[in-house]
Amino acid sequence: MDGCIFCKIAKGEIASNIVYDGELVIGFRDVNPQAPHHYLIIPKKHIANITDIGEDDLPMLAEMFRAVNSLTEEKGMQARGFRTVMNQGRMAGQTVDHLHLHILGGRVMGWPPG
Ligand code: AMP
Repeated sequence: MDGCIFCKIAKGEIASNIVYDGELVIGFRDVNPQAPHHYLIIPKKHIANITDIGEDDLPMLAEMFRAVNSLTEEKGMQARGFRTVMNQGRMAGQTVDHLHLHILGGRVMGWPPG
């Protein structure tokens, strides 16, 4: 979608630190990390948020979680644990309207989240 920063990252039009490149999703380092490990997994096609996910997107969701498994194993995050987060809407803190799954790890996480 025109003007979407994550679409531009997915197309390689904006530089990012790619850590996973799959058929339907890519993963890259968050530019403003909130933990020693902070990655974002996004669909290559534009989906604004969770409530826009359709039946046709199930293969993408499966690959998204394959990416989580692969990346957290590669980064040695599985033994100590990690957190995945998807923010939906302004009250939850969503700032980029292109679906993204945060993967955070490398420090103790508080609960409930702020
Ligand atoms: P959210 O607040 O859940 O919408 O998350 C958006 C995330 O995207 C934030 O953690 C930002 O730091 C991150 N972000 C925004 N622009 C970029 C970018 N160009 N490269 C990497 N991460 C970005």
